[in-house]
Amino acid sequence: MSEIVDLRVGEIIAGLQSGDFSSREVTTAFLGRIEQLDEHIHAFLTVNPEQSLSRADEADRKLLAHRRGQQESLPSLTGIPLAVKDVLCVKDMRCTCGSRILENFIPPYSATAVERLSKAGVVILGKTNTDEFAMGSSTENSAYGPTHNPWNLQHVPGGSSGGSAAAVAAKLAPIALGTDTGGSVRQPASFCGVTGIKPTYGRVSRFGLVAFGSSLDVVGAFGKSASEIIPFLNTMSGYDPSDATSIDLPVPGIDLASAAIEETIKNLRIGVPEEYFIKGIQNEVEDRVRKAILQFEKLGAQIVDIRLPFTEQALPVYYIIAPAEASANLARFDGIRYGPRVPADEMWDIFRRTRGEKFGPEVKRRIMLGTYALSAGYYEAYYGQAQKVRTLIKNDFEAAFEKVDVIAAPVAPTTAFRIGEHGDDPLSMYLEDVFTLPANLAGVPGITFPVGFDDQGLPVGMQLMGSHFQEKLLFQAAHAYQLVTDWHVHQPNLDQYL
Ligand code: GLN
Repeated sequence: MSEIVDLRVGEIIAGLQSGDFSSREVTTAFLGRIEQLDEHIHAFLTVNPEQSLSRADEADRKLLAHRRGQQESLPSLTGIPLAVKDVLCVKDMRCTCGSRILENFIPPYSATAVERLSKAGVVILGKTNTDEFAMGSSTENSAYGPTHNPWNLQHVPGGSSGGSAAAVAAKLAPIALGTDTGGSVRQPASFCGVTGIKPTYGRVSRFGLVAFGSSLDVVGAFGKSASEIIPFLNTMSGYDPSDATSIDLPVPGIDLASAAIEETIKNLRIGVPEEYFIKGIQNEVEDRVRKAILQFEKLGAQIVDIRLPFTEQALPVYYIIAPAEASANLARFDGIRYGPRVPADEMWDIFRRTRGEKFGPEVKRRIMLGTYALSAGYYEAYYGQAQKVRTLIKNDFEAAFEKVDVIAAPVAPTTAFRIGEHGDDPLSMYLEDVFTLPANLAGVPGITFPVGFDDQGLPVGMQLMGSHFQEKLLFQAAHAYQLVTDWHVHQPNLDQYL
């Protein structure tokens, strides 16, 4: 059965529809690999084989009926397995957010993104590991222990959606959902050598995504290649009455035919911002990204030097706005409404003890930072000021997108670092996010894909950022690159654990 896990999403769809194999066989193959490998990788926090297999059987009944001509239309993703980051609610499946405070929380409904994919027929394999409440860049902040990078188990997979990125890299799932508040899809995709999309803010409903920074959060996805992710993003996207910030714009069909791709690349103006190639960035990262940019030039794209002068301010601005929003969002976890309760006689003591015992140190740090930034007397100096600078960062992008169609940059200053390397130094960890935060503050989409390896054999990724709602262009550009390179085809060797 091991060859099923090597198939591309398109091949799985074709094989299911022609009856070459069943969804039960596909699901069993991935569950089997999780069973064998996940004790070493720890990509999953929850798997529920019975639930997955019963969904697979349901898909198989539909597939069979379709083949017999008894069912006119077959939902487009019928029978395809999917992993879901553990901050997105899946009905009747435990959702921990990587936190002890939601240890046994079973949501009574699914996130809209998950619900739409379920209607399209996916089979959910399980919930993937994440930094607690998606706060982190390594999954080391998960209360359930870190995920290990499949390319080198001593290294982190990135974060916060590290479980999802590692699951795709290790072939534990063909596709996985993540979320990106400040880089949490793009950075782990880069660290694990897979492709990841962070859509435009508002493209995908946030309903049922446990909120971290509501003005920044967006649901995205991981796959081996750009073309495989497209149908999942298209299915999830679009207006949802349950999320007032979701956008009522149809998702355009994305044409990957070679003529369309050639045409797009020939007319593509790629901006290279000098602020993203700063001192301190790992040499191999800069080298591989620059080579990839040359590759785009060879394909016919025009390379343009640009400036994004407020880039440097993104980090301090993000680390005020995101914690401020988090401190408000996390107020609901009080030991009364959700999850476990540490008993006490007094209501305030229940709050104090439950939150004191069940939140991890990074979450507490963010709550304190955010509460401070929002408190009377400081609000204008911190939160108000940060909002103003956020606008300047957004203006930077708007000015750049008058001259270029996409912006090319490294995803992170380094490749995957060692577990424990940033130890107790939160600031050095925050610095890992310098190149991903600006897109979230501006709300623009970004795609990450592998462009080589460093000297230790760890993947290097690059990102393309686009103007609002230009996901189509990002997918086409990444696809064009993947047609002429094979970095996305390389796989970590995990045979010794099988
Ligand atoms: N690493 C960033 C943080 O810790 C971003 C996390 C995210 O995108 N969820 O906040």
